[in-house]
Amino acid sequence: MTTQLTELFESNRQWAALTEAQDPGFFSKLLEQQTPQYLWIGCADSRVPANELVGLLPGELFVHRNVANVVAHSDLNALSVIQFAVDGLKVQHIIVVGHSNCGGVKAALNDLRLGLVDNWLRHVKDVRHQHQAFLDQIDAERRVDALCELNVLEQARNVCTSTVVLDAWTRGQEVVVHGWVYGLHNGLLDDLKMTARAAEDVDTAYAHALSGIRDRYLAA
Ligand SMILES: [Zn+2]
Repeated sequence: MTTQLTELFESNRQWAALTEAQDPGFFSKLLEQQTPQYLWIGCADSRVPANELVGLLPGELFVHRNVANVVAHSDLNALSVIQFAVDGLKVQHIIVVGHSNCGGVKAALNDLRLGLVDNWLRHVKDVRHQHQAFLDQIDAERRVDALCELNVLEQARNVCTSTVVLDAWTRGQEVVVHGWVYGLHNGLLDDLKMTARAAEDVDTAYAHALSGIRDRYLAA
């Protein structure tokens, strides 16, 4: 095992050189400002690289990731990211992105004991308990993916009901909140249609998205 991680430095030099060759002045332009239009709130899972899977360059996507893409109203880390994105960077879209077969969601679904992270995943367990009757109607092997999608809805709703987003909407700032899910098996994003652009949209968007999930999982 190398201790200096020289291979990563080598890759980094190649990437920086290639990027500069393809777009001369790329880094000096970035130095002046970052003006991303999107805030991505996703899972920390290494198989879900935010920028790459939507083809966005450095400077184009503001990113927050944690285990199971949770947005808790007491999490100063996530709330600070949202506040800076909305008030400082003036992003136009906040996208909560879950992914299929999420390990965090699986642990919450199956009551796995993994350690400290169990406390964090308590938020996802709350989602599970809220939707337990629906989850019980789904085949066991599809339950994880259903809970991944339900978790996106709940976390997107938490974004919508954060003081930062409510205040932005009250003062007329355009911010659209979205809930998406990424398929590990095919690399594709799906829009769960949890799309809200004003406080009065939230309940309707949530109900619409929830009925979409119910239709898909109960029909199959
Ligand atoms: Zn995950």
